[in-house]
Amino acid sequence: MKKKIGLYPGSFDPITNGHLDIIFRASKIVDKLIIGVAINDKKKHLFSMRERKDLIVNQISLNKKNISNVKVQAFDGLLMTFAEKIKANLIVRGLRAISDFDYEFQMTGMNARLNSQIETVFLMASERHQFISSRFVKEICMLKGDIKSFVPKEVYKKLNNKFK
Ligand code: ADP
Repeated sequence: MKKKIGLYPGSFDPITNGHLDIIFRASKIVDKLIIGVAINDKKKHLFSMRERKDLIVNQISLNKKNISNVKVQAFDGLLMTFAEKIKANLIVRGLRAISDFDYEFQMTGMNARLNSQIETVFLMASERHQFISSRFVKEICMLKGDIKSFVPKEVYKKLNNKFK
């Protein structure tokens, strides 16, 4: 049978426990999972491409769960072009609240028009990670709030260093 290749794209600025949860769960439903770290989106990132990618790679190698089928790759330009290049059969996205839905719905619709062979699947955020977003984690940290329960240890340290 053909191998199922999943692509989990995002900014990961920085990776949070919510992202990690999606990565572990997605890795179980595909043969290979590529985490696609977006280089060129219009957002201004706190962490450089290299930093965002390294943090993800470290978290994957640190983890004791069996996720040897997960790889990390940076990509530039159109998501569907990258998905085609790596021969992905499906795109994985995480869904938190209704507020995610509108954007994801539109993006999935447009992507399906670009390539109808590549399905987008959504994994609901786990209950304990529902409210975690990279954006709020950065804001809370900048205001000297405690973000320990939202991000892995290394990310916690790196974030606090950024706002010293
Ligand atoms: P993007 O700029 O593509 O939204 P993000 O890094 O913010 O990049 O998110 C990447 C994906 O991870 C998105 O599908 C987003 O909905 C999902 N995601 C982010 N945080 C969580 C979380 N706490 N639980 C589940 N999914 C999440």
